[in-house]
Amino acid sequence: MEEKVSGCKHVLMVPYPSQGHINPMLQFSKRLCSKGVRVTMLTTIFISNSMHLQSSSLLGSVHLDFISDGYDEGGFAEAASVETYLSRMEEVGSKSLREFIKKQSSSDEGIDCVVYDPLVIWVLDVAKELGLMGAAFFTQMCAVNYIYYHVYHGLLKVPISSSLPISIEGLPLLHFKDAPPFVSDPAFYPAYFELVVKQFSNIHKADLLLVNSFYKLEDQVVDAMSKVCPVLTIGPTVPSFHLDKTIPNDRDNVLNLFELDSSPISWLKQKPAQSVIYVSFGSMVCFSSHQMEEIAFALIQTGFNFLWVIPDFHTKNLSEEMGKKIEACGRGLIVNWTPQLEVLSNDAVGCFFTHCGWNSTLEALCLGVPMVALPQWTDQPTNAKFVEDVWKVGIRMKEDENGIVRRDEIQSCIRVVMEKELGREMRINAKKWKDLAVEAVTQGGTSDHNINEFIKNLKKS
Ligand code: UDP
Repeated sequence: MEEKVSGCKHVLMVPYPSQGHINPMLQFSKRLCSKGVRVTMLTTIFISNSMHLQSSSLLGSVHLDFISDGYDEGGFAEAASVETYLSRMEEVGSKSLREFIKKQSSSDEGIDCVVYDPLVIWVLDVAKELGLMGAAFFTQMCAVNYIYYHVYHGLLKVPISSSLPISIEGLPLLHFKDAPPFVSDPAFYPAYFELVVKQFSNIHKADLLLVNSFYKLEDQVVDAMSKVCPVLTIGPTVPSFHLDKTIPNDRDNVLNLFELDSSPISWLKQKPAQSVIYVSFGSMVCFSSHQMEEIAFALIQTGFNFLWVIPDFHTKNLSEEMGKKIEACGRGLIVNWTPQLEVLSNDAVGCFFTHCGWNSTLEALCLGVPMVALPQWTDQPTNAKFVEDVWKVGIRMKEDENGIVRRDEIQSCIRVVMEKELGREMRINAKKWKDLAVEAVTQGGTSDHNINEFIKNLKKS
């Protein structure tokens, strides 16, 4: 039984409205609920409409509610540009949030604390204006946030040099290709650059800073960052069941923004142990047709079974001809969206060919699956650097001079992980990280302790 450290405090979680940011907040919410806290997660009307969810519905123990971000009909796709999306979301979102909190306060379900993703910094301003406790929850790894902290405070000049590696206390030396593209090429991503750097502009007003990582995974970074900006690691926010099989699997209590296909689970059950390459590049990465062709050829040529997630928005980039070749080879299964954690938990999976989104990286680490990394943007290159050189649980592919990762390179990296001694060592290392992740979240572990600290702070509010 979990120790109950709270009465009935009410936390409002406000994620950035995308799959990779909603997932960790939802899992954190569930963990708080298991400790006796009431949690409402607030996302957008667009999400509720596209998923046919009712206002004030329940997802397991977590209450769901929705507000307008100004894009009720089409979400992000409705906006003319990233800049327009972000500024309208702030304008409409802060007004709707203020009204929502005021309405809650007039009922007996008043909110005690707002936990927000610092990508939506205005949420903290609203919380403080209404006299509430506010906690930032960084859903990306600590190291990446510490890089953005350096940029915000002018300690790291951007754009960074393409020839001089970056040296930041607690981090390995980062070469140009390892840094988040928002800082290596800010002019290419002006709106996202501002978004990630501005996270720190009002952070001094937050009562606590939480991060989706665990202490032993990033101890040196956490220690270095905490000297100037104290953070509490509360991750990994991988569902409890996957870390401890005695906890019931609440697989239905997830928010999939894409239509889920569970058929791969029975497909995997028929495959021998470690014979399948699981391929997924998350909810946002979109490769060119050329890159998709190189990936498809390589997967066919390896001779292994493969399960490849290609979300709707991306299918047009895989030619009909390649689709037929995959079908003809008889070893590949392509799906729109799948229960990734269940896939990664299956013994048939031998490696994860991934874009190294932070959730996917943590999930692979926590389930002991070695990775073949093809990072694209945002935090992914830095995550891949740690995967390869710090945690030694994967290998990163190399691009050619035109920015394409060729089929031979893909094939050879997959073979290293699936067949070679180095791959066996990666699997052993991954198992070590899995054990440390479990230790962090079980009673008395560092993350469990920090979650209890957070709840104690709620009691004071
Ligand atoms: N995911 C899933 N099914 C899929 C592909 C991905 O449930 O078929 C989940 C995955 O488990 C992870 C999230 O979607 O929790 C993707 O987050 P990540 O940070 O890895 O990438 P992003 O989508 O933000 O680029």
